[in-house]
Amino acid sequence: MERTLILIKPDAIARGLAGRVLSYFEAKGLKIAGIKMVQLDEALLKEHYAHLADKPFFPDICEFMGRLPVIALCLEGLEAVEVCRRLCGVTNSRQAAPGTIRGDLGLSMQANLVHASDSVETARVEIARFFREDELFDYQPPLLAYQYARDERE
Ligand code: ADP
Repeated sequence: MERTLILIKPDAIARGLAGRVLSYFEAKGLKIAGIKMVQLDEALLKEHYAHLADKPFFPDICEFMGRLPVIALCLEGLEAVEVCRRLCGVTNSRQAAPGTIRGDLGLSMQANLVHASDSVETARVEIARFFREDELFDYQPPLLAYQYARDERE
């Protein structure tokens, strides 16, 4: 099983869509291994968006992402990183496919409701950025046998 880091962004919090965003992941069958609300400060934002530091829109993203607290999730499942990226849809919500979170709920490139780690390696770094070990829960979801075939859950 793989883990990934999701952030429910300030636009989703402001629009009262946090629960709706979370339900896409829950309904898909991803296990919540960790969940917390976090106010992103400047240091955390610079670290999290370091790969975009040279983009003209970088200051705007930092302002936007720090405007309200976000909800950080550590989700677990088979190929969770790729599954969550696909569930979010492409970055520009206007182009995101219907059925995805961004495609169903947004119209913006910046205010696109959700962040999801883009690789297994990034996920490892991002989970450690947001969660201490004792904030992550290693429980056995009771319906696992109905979510996966035997060879998929081994
Ligand atoms: P993603 O979140 O889909 O992995 P990126 O890592 O490229 O996309 O960008 C991080 C975030 O920065 C996006 O989710 C979006 O909120 C914002 N962003 C990306 N590109 C732009 C842009 N051209 N203009 C404004 N905001 C952008």
